[in-house]
Amino acid sequence: MPAGLLGIEELDRAEIEAILARAKQFQPVQDQSQKKLDTLRGKMIVNLFFEASTRTRTSFEIAAKRLGADAVSIAASGSSVSKGESLVDTLNTLAAMRPNAIVMRHAASGAPHFLARHLAMPIINAGDGTHEHPTQALLDARTILDRRPSLEGLRVAIIGDIAHSRVARSNVYLLSKFGAEIVLCGPASLLPRELAHIAPGVALTNDIREAIRDADVIMMLRVQLERQHEAAFPSGEYFQFYGLRLEHLALAKPDVIVMHPGPINRGRELSSEVADSQRSVILNQVENGVAVRMAVLERVIG
Ligand code: ASP
Repeated sequence: MPAGLLGIEELDRAEIEAILARAKQFQPVQDQSQKKLDTLRGKMIVNLFFEASTRTRTSFEIAAKRLGADAVSIAASGSSVSKGESLVDTLNTLAAMRPNAIVMRHAASGAPHFLARHLAMPIINAGDGTHEHPTQALLDARTILDRRPSLEGLRVAIIGDIAHSRVARSNVYLLSKFGAEIVLCGPASLLPRELAHIAPGVALTNDIREAIRDADVIMMLRVQLERQHEAAFPSGEYFQFYGLRLEHLALAKPDVIVMHPGPINRGRELSSEVADSQRSVILNQVENGVAVRMAVLERVIG
């Protein structure tokens, strides 16, 4: 049974480099024609999303179709999950229809890992709770490497709701494997101290200015209210202390890039001036999402 993709933590540098190199070949600039390939003709992927998604779900679908595969997307709210079916039963039902891979997003950390142990089918993790979002970190790395020769020695500030962010975790695992210097920043209630030990090269601060100073990359994160059981920080004050504004960019390297996995909340995590500035690569991230997911699908089921 071919392996799926559950997280960045378990990938080595060579595997990550192979995906990123292949994704580069799939970038639209490389492939002006945008024509459909037939690499995965006759294959079928099922997208099963138990949590909201715009970018990830759509780009997995587009990636599959550009490789010639068929893709079916299911949102849990319109499925038999809302009739009380268990996760294992839902997945077994879908597996019985013999897709070649299941792409899944779930609110429980570890859900795809659990299913991968029980199903003879590759599972691709499209975000599990607060744990990992591997394709996001891969597309983020692709986006950085489109502008920098290497990740080694880059100073990357990741700012916001670190505690609930699978994007932060996957990025920490990936960036640290390539020798980047990572600064995690957020209010104390959203910045667990133990994260300093999840990978080498990680520092923590509650001060956004300190995090941004000399940064090559600033990654902003959404405040994940859906995962917070009680308000972790007064929402009116969040932008004042942790919102990225134009004046902050002067502290960073002159060619700093600003990233955000989306969905962005203007006026909460970053100002509109920053989101729409020349420094922002947020839409390049989205664009790379398709290329990276093509590389991942090809690797998993090609
Ligand atoms: N889209 C990303 C995720 O699913 C980030 C976010 O939702 O804030 O984790």
